[in-house]
Formats: sequence, C-alpha cells, structure tokens
Amino acid sequence: GSPVETLEFQAETRQLLQLVIHSIYSNKDIFLRELISNSSDALDKLRLESLVDSDLEADTSDPHIVLGVDRDARTLTVTDNGIGMTRAEVVDLIGTIAKSGTAGLLERIKQAKDAEAAQSLIGQFGVGFYSAFMVADKVSLRTRRAGTTEGTLWESDGEGSYEISSVDDLPVGTTVTLHLKPADGEDGLADYLADWKIRSIVKQYSDFIRWPIRMAVERGESDGVAVTEMETLNSMKALWARPRSEVTEAEYHEFYKQISHDWTDPAEIIHMRSEGTFAYDALLFIPSAAPFDLFSQQTKRGVQLYVKRVFIMDDCEALVPNYLRFVKGVVDAHDLSLNISREILQHDRHIRGVRRRLVKKVLTAIKDMQTGNAEQYAKLWDQFGRVLKEGLIEDTDNTEALLDLISADSTHDAEKTTTLREYVERMKDGQDAIYYLTGATRAAVENSPHMEAFTAKGYEVLILTDPVDEVWVDQVPDFDGHRFQSIAKGQVDLDSDSDENADEEKSKREADFAALLPWLAGTLSDHVKAARLSSRLTTSAACVVGDAQDMTPMLEKMYRAMGQ
Ligand code: ADP
Ligand code: MG
Repeated sequence: GSPVETLEFQAETRQLLQLVIHSIYSNKDIFLRELISNSSDALDKLRLESLVDSDLEADTSDPHIVLGVDRDARTLTVTDNGIGMTRAEVVDLIGTIAKSGTAGLLERIKQAKDAEAAQSLIGQFGVGFYSAFMVADKVSLRTRRAGTTEGTLWESDGEGSYEISSVDDLPVGTTVTLHLKPADGEDGLADYLADWKIRSIVKQYSDFIRWPIRMAVERGESDGVAVTEMETLNSMKALWARPRSEVTEAEYHEFYKQISHDWTDPAEIIHMRSEGTFAYDALLFIPSAAPFDLFSQQTKRGVQLYVKRVFIMDDCEALVPNYLRFVKGVVDAHDLSLNISREILQHDRHIRGVRRRLVKKVLTAIKDMQTGNAEQYAKLWDQFGRVLKEGLIEDTDNTEALLDLISADSTHDAEKTTTLREYVERMKDGQDAIYYLTGATRAAVENSPHMEAFTAKGYEVLILTDPVDEVWVDQVPDFDGHRFQSIAKGQVDLDSDSDENADEEKSKREADFAALLPWLAGTLSDHVKAARLSSRLTTSAACVVGDAQDMTPMLEKMYRAMGQ
C-alpha cells in the first residue's frame, strides 16, 4: 500500500452530497439500483474493451455482480469483476461531479420554492454513486483497473473529505462496501442486511440486468453451521432487448403474465426497436380482457419505463395517453438519467416522440386486427371500445385513425355493428350527415319517437349507448366530410326529398294547428322553449326535442353523476 492521502470534495460535490444525505429521495431503496447499474456498466465496458484491445489481459469468462452481507460488521458490499478504475479515475469520477451544468443546477435547487420543485430539478441528473450515502454513514470503494497492477482504496463518510490510498493484491474490478446506518422505519431506512429485502429490491429494479447478480443465501444448517449457497437473484431475461425472431410466442406470453398479473394470453404483441438519435426498445401488449377497474379513478397505466434494463417506474403516464391505459408493457430507453422525474419526462422532447410512435403502433395494430381478424377485433372492441372512444376527446392528433376503428350499433342491422366507413357507403343520395341517436340502451333508442320519421323514410341511424358517445360526437368535426347529426337535436329537415305536394300540405297543417301551438307553448312554458309543428313523427303525437346546443338527457345525467 501507499500512504493515505486526504482530499477535499469539490465544493459542488459536497453540496450535492448534503442534498442526497438529507433525503431528497423519499425512496432510499434506489441506492442498490444505482450501484448495480454502475457494476453492470463496468462489466459492459470490460467486455467491449477486451474485444477491441487484444493485449488487455482480462478474465471475461464469468462476468458477474455479487452482493455480500456481513451482519456482525453491518456491511453490505456490491462487487463486480468489471473494468475497474485507476486512482486518477477514482479521484475524477468519484471525487468530483464532472457533469456539466452541475453548478447552475445546484444554484437553482437552492432557490427552488419547495421540496417538490427541488426534487424535480434533482431528477435531471443522476446522483448515482452518492446515493450510497443515503443508507450508509461510511462508504469504502476498492478497485483495480483491468490492465493495471495497482489497486486503489477510497473511503469517505460523505461529509467534507475522502481518503485515498493504494492497495496491493486487489482483483480486477470494484467492490463498494456500505457501512449501514441503523434501520429506521421513519427515515425510510429498511433493514438492508435482510435477504428478503435485498432480494425484493433486486427483483423490482434490476431483474433484467444482463449479468448475474449473485448472493450467498442460507439453505438450512448442518451440524449447527449454516449452509449457504450462491443464488442468482435476477432473471436476466429482458425479452425486449432480444431480436423478435429469437423470442417464442410462449416466452412473450409468459412475460406478459408476469408484468400484467393477468392469467389470459394477450390479444396482440407489439415489439419494436428504434435506433435513431434516441434509441429505445419497446414491448407492448394489448390484453384480451379488460381489468375490472378500467373505469375507476385509480386505474394505472400499464407501461413501465426502464433505462438500460434498470427499472425506473411503473405507470409511466408520459409514455401512453390515458385512453390507452389498458396497454401493458415496457419501454427501455438507452440514454436517460436513472433519476429522471415524472415531471421532466412529461416535457422531454424525445419521450414525446416515443409516445407519438407508440400510439401510432397500437392504433395500427388494432386496425390490422379489424381488417385481418374480424372476430378477434369484435372481442377487442367489446372490451376496450369504450376506452378507445375517450381518445376522440383526448387525442385530436389521431381522430381519423380512431374514427376508423369505431364499431357502432345501427338501425341497419340488429345483429351486427357497423363501422363509419360502411355507414357512409350506405348513405342515401342527398344525405350529407351521419345520423345518430344516443340513449341508455339499444331498446330505448329504437323506441324513441325521434326515430320514427327516419325509419319510415329509410335513413340509417347509429345507436350510441355509451356515455362517452355523447361527448365525442359533439367534438369530432366530421368523418370523411360528413358531420355527425343527432336526430334529437335542432331542426332535421327530412322533407327535401318528398313529393311536390309537400309545401301545400305543410301550410295546410300549419293552419290546422295555428291555435294549438301557442296554447301548448304557454301551458308548458316552465318546461319547453317552444312548440313546433314537425315532420319527425309518423305515429307519435308529440316529442321533446333539444336545442342544437343543449346537453342531451344522457349527458345531463352523466354530469350530475359526476357531481357537476
Ligand atoms: P453515472 O453512472 O451516471 O456516470 P455514477 O455517480 O453512478 O454516475 O458513477 C460515476 C462514475 O464512476 C461512472 O460513470 C463510472 O465511470 C465510475 N464508476 C462507478 N462505479 C463503478 C464501478 N463499479 N466500476 C467502474 N467504474 C465505476
Ligand atoms: Mg451510475
């Protein structure tokens, strides 16, 4: 070894350390994710370097990460046989925060209005290695760079300085030793020496790391001595990172069940890779059945975000819009900070691009199903049609694609639904609007007096019975140049195509009812705005019609149910 040298942390590093230690992160568990991810990077680097540099004498036969627990010493170690660091690299990489813009960012953090604002700023860069100080009051790092002989020991309590010295006989790679603070539930400090705790953190955050993460676990005892056995804690199977041609359907299904907690096979699998400026892999599933809570306020979106196989978050709302909340899966971005916050993600240009692409992919997959497998599509629509229609309100960029997917009941066929395209193809000569009527049930709509004239004259009317239908038909401007016209609202003129006598007949009728209408309007003035003679009805005597701008009774009911 060599004499111990004590060095001061760079001012900015010290400030950041203080922020980390004084809990900017409520979730302390992530320290292990950070250390494992560093080890994984180090293993990647060693493999790459040994491929490029044939002179590098490095053992790459068994790249791995080992977690070690010493209950008496209260230490947790993370060891890898990766690339390691030279002394100069340790000073550079660990002793300073070399990332550009750190100083400015720290300034903004200090000026942040509240803890939440500070936290979201912090999310812009990873605190990485320093997160170890959230759970440890002393951290030691032993490391030797591949291709060098001298090892380095770095130690710090995370206050103002660190000590560094040379040590002999270190294997190539890095060991980080955490001297754990006492477990304290209130501080969010779990017992990080407990097997189950370590196991569960690895499962949650690092399951798909491509290198084995091993730990000695106790397997009973023999003659009073505990018998331990090395166990690999992570599955390493990141299906999304493998080429599609190498993944079997059974593997996809198995993976889907694991992430969705659904027992049935998915209806559709979307596996894609983007290698552009912002590289990512995405593996998405459209389930075959809707979860029971699809319409509850608490439903979460089903897409998880990973960064280079490290789990970052569930329910990533920045990746899929609300109306695709039933889609399950994983997006693995290759170049994002591990600590990126939800808020930053929402505004990230690249992430928005990913989201646009995922939406297109999902809608195209559904469209393909509609044209290629009608039966499966009908099932899908039955399960998720109502949610997809929310997209017509939420996502105006995809109005056309969504309208194309719609299946609706119609007076044309009592047994079968129709698409809008089919409706338009059947439209009568001279008909320019798509007629619809909303109501609570198909029977209620069919028996509505509004329907009479339309059925009598052979016009097809869409029967819309989902509450959401009320909203989108009002917002969507048109389909294929045809506006949506409620047959219960405003003036619908069906007389334009009737015979020559119509006008004459109309004036005669108006004369007949000249006395009745004002009387009706006066008597019912608390309930109606006007009483009009109508050509809507054939057998009923009268019906109530809404103004073009009025809410329909269904919508009124819906708003009332929502407490508005
Ligand atoms: P980041 O991983 O985002 O670069 P970290 O604070 O986690 O930030 O790590 C800083 C740097 O220290 C890493 O980029 C890497 O060069 C080096 N480093 C950390 N851990 C290891 C390790 N186990 N093996 C080799 N190098 C490491
Ligand atoms: Mg890191």
